[in-house]
Amino acid sequence: MIALDKHPSGRHFLQIPGPSPVPDRILRAISLPTIDHRGPEFADLGNKVLAGIRKIFQTRHPVVIYPASGTGAWEAALVNVCSPGDRVLMYETGHFASLWHKMAQRLGLQPELLALPGIDEATGLPNSWRHGVQAELIEQRLRDDRGQQIKAVCVVHNETSTGVTSDIAAVRRAIDAAGHPALLLVDTISGLASADFRHDEWGIDVSISGSQKGLMLPPGISFNALSPKAIEAGNTAKLPKAFWAWDEIVEMNKTGYWPYTPNTNLLYGLSEAIEMLLEQGMPVVFARHQRWARGVRAAVQAWGLPIQCADDKVFSPVLTGVVTPRGVDADAVRRLIHDRFDLSLGAGLGKLRGRMFRIGHLGDCNNLTLMAALSGVEMGLKLSGVAIAGRGVQAAMDFFAATPSE
Ligand code: PLP
Repeated sequence: MIALDKHPSGRHFLQIPGPSPVPDRILRAISLPTIDHRGPEFADLGNKVLAGIRKIFQTRHPVVIYPASGTGAWEAALVNVCSPGDRVLMYETGHFASLWHKMAQRLGLQPELLALPGIDEATGLPNSWRHGVQAELIEQRLRDDRGQQIKAVCVVHNETSTGVTSDIAAVRRAIDAAGHPALLLVDTISGLASADFRHDEWGIDVSISGSQKGLMLPPGISFNALSPKAIEAGNTAKLPKAFWAWDEIVEMNKTGYWPYTPNTNLLYGLSEAIEMLLEQGMPVVFARHQRWARGVRAAVQAWGLPIQCADDKVFSPVLTGVVTPRGVDADAVRRLIHDRFDLSLGAGLGKLRGRMFRIGHLGDCNNLTLMAALSGVEMGLKLSGVAIAGRGVQAAMDFFAATPSE
């Protein structure tokens, strides 16, 4: 076994914003015997998950499932719709948007990165990493693109590095208002199945997601949800693609099979996760995450620490970024909390390294697991000598006690 003996009893508190804690029901489903992926039983499983996942993306169109992490699905989206040297308009909301931009450069595209300018004086952090996508900046840039050279607009729905969401319907309206034909590509790797997401209604061409966040599965599968316009673009795009190519996969998926070996046991888990989510109803699932987020924010506000997201209209329901005072190393606080209380928190990434930590509120959580996590954070802040204004744990208890579950 790997060294888990530091904390010999009880469960580890995995409070990072994905991979999220996996419900026992899903773990049991994954432990079923592996079956022949070309055999007669497999098609039932394949057809079931391919139909079910469309309901989660809220789409009538094909969803491609890859045995890969989210990064693979990012690449799949770009290589299926772009040709070498294509211009793509990306928007810097945080670390993941920046990584996707870097990938576009490596693929030989000409990505342009829009961002809200300036530094926030109170925290010294970039404004762009504290706010969501400003759709009017996208509209203006597309209006200026008179030759309509920009092939795609790429945005992140739930920026996992900051805890900020973006209004995807507003981005669609901006593209339409500019009268621009660019495709809309959306990373909802950490948004799907936790935050409201509507592939068809919001006019998205490719939605990208992964298994290890709101779907409550271990890491290992990822998705591209397609629009008819994206499928058409895929037929003429010239970037090299083989494993990621949608056409063969979509064709074989019609019979419930894949052209390669799919991730059979994770598909059992996916089937179970879809059942669990649809049994509860997606509005209930979204409300649950909003409520958890409000409880966690009540604690952070009582501690008197800034929340990474500076715009209360776009607080993430999936995670909350907590900014530590200048001079306090957020990573040292995180390490202490891990070592003393067996609780993992998300690190500050990229430009936020050492300046903040992230509390995930997704996956197999409930009021009391979140209360335990907040207790660990509050104890850790005090032990690290961080001056906190008040009792965040008490504020969260008051919130959860006063606000019944949906
Ligand atoms: N995009 C977002 C918003 C993410 O949160 C992540 C991972 O956390 C990724 C992309 C990359 O996905 P993966 O690590 O599964 O490759």
